[in-house]
Amino acid sequence: MSTSYERLAAIDKAHLWHPFTQMKDYVRSEPLIIERGDGVMLYDVQGRGYYDGFSSVWLNVHGHNVPELNRAVTGQLGKVAHSTLLGMSNVPAVELAGKLAAIAPEGLTKVFYSDSGATGVEIALKMAFQYWRNLGIRGKTSFITMEQAYHGDTIGAVSVGSIPLYHDVFRPLLFPSLTIPYPYAYRHEGGAEAAAEATLSALRACLERKADEIAALIVEPIVQGAGGIVVMPPGCLRDIAALCRRYGVLLIADEVATGFGRTGAMFACGLEDVAPDLMVVGKGLTGGYLPVAATLATDDVYQAFYADYEAQKTFFHGHSYTGNPLGCAAALASLELLEKNRVVEGVESKAAFVRRKLEVLEDRPHLGEIRQKGLMVGIELVRDKRTKEPYGWEERIGVRVSQRARELGMLTRPLGNVIVFIPPLASTIDELDAMTRILTAAIGDVTER
Ligand SMILES: *Cc1c(COP(=O)(O)O)cnc(C)c1O
Repeated sequence: MSTSYERLAAIDKAHLWHPFTQMKDYVRSEPLIIERGDGVMLYDVQGRGYYDGFSSVWLNVHGHNVPELNRAVTGQLGKVAHSTLLGMSNVPAVELAGKLAAIAPEGLTKVFYSDSGATGVEIALKMAFQYWRNLGIRGKTSFITMEQAYHGDTIGAVSVGSIPLYHDVFRPLLFPSLTIPYPYAYRHEGGAEAAAEATLSALRACLERKADEIAALIVEPIVQGAGGIVVMPPGCLRDIAALCRRYGVLLIADEVATGFGRTGAMFACGLEDVAPDLMVVGKGLTGGYLPVAATLATDDVYQAFYADYEAQKTFFHGHSYTGNPLGCAAALASLELLEKNRVVEGVESKAAFVRRKLEVLEDRPHLGEIRQKGLMVGIELVRDKRTKEPYGWEERIGVRVSQRARELGMLTRPLGNVIVFIPPLASTIDELDAMTRILTAAIGDVTER
């Protein structure tokens, strides 16, 4: 009789095709099969515990198995699990829309639900596109995106994506976008100021020539996530927003990774008082419990669709589970807990603690750069510190450091040569201390062996 782990692992390897995973490597490995969670810990079926050092891919806010969130979901389950939003409404979806409008950057008063960051991005793109058509303005059909942008994996989101490894294979399927650099100071010869200026001058040039053809610019505000946890120089987002406004191009803020306190403000746009025309949220919206995303729009965008039925200006878009009551109930409870526990207010001091703890890495031979905004940290490792020569792909340096961290009791997932540390916002100082110890040990063990 095989153990439960062996049985599950065999079925897993035989039948489960995992996302963003080379299955040839996976089936040769000893898969990690999670059974339960408690606070910032996850436990596998063999009873081993791991710190959730990447918030289960950047979702988790309050930890796992949180009584308040559990109660909200089970309470809603006793009422109704799902009913549609097509032409009708449900209680948690209504309450959550009001709440989101109240905490969003100024002007974002309308909430359109979906079920993932990618679908939320699709909605923003389609809204921006149809906005100009509904106004009777022809030709504004393109989008500006940024190098190394990641907005999700559906075809529209991939069309404004710009990570060659993920996106190039699909290029023939995609609509073309205009691409400007994201200010990546570490790999820009002139440093932060020059990197920001390169972005802004590319944007200016693009808008001067082509504003008439551009519906919107989409940006990961302040921190570019999947592109390597790249932090914008101060003021850059504000200048990007001002240029969009000046040239009559809508601004779409993709806050899927940065929203709900991750960077130290409720939304990263708030760090520079930027009010986008459209904003996409997902990931942490439900505290990492259930798949709910939302696209927030200004009244100006909304009014372009608000017309007589016959005018056919309706936004013809929706998903079966749009506004799912269980998910919305979880989101409401998560937002309540954010307020009650003053979670967002606590991020800056926790972030400062993490920054101090990671200082020991600074003079390590393979440390390129530590990038951090709030509790979103990327540690870029390099083969040669002086020349910034990257590790080769075949060295799998990020994968190996993450594997070592798992052996030491913490889960994370790298972005190429960038080690990711994105702990749940509710992590205590003691927990952050333990996690950063594992992180620094894993980096040392792998790069200095
Ligand atoms: C994760 C992410 C997405 C995609 O969200 P999914 O829920 O995985 O579809 C979009 N944009 C950003 C910035 C993200 O980090």
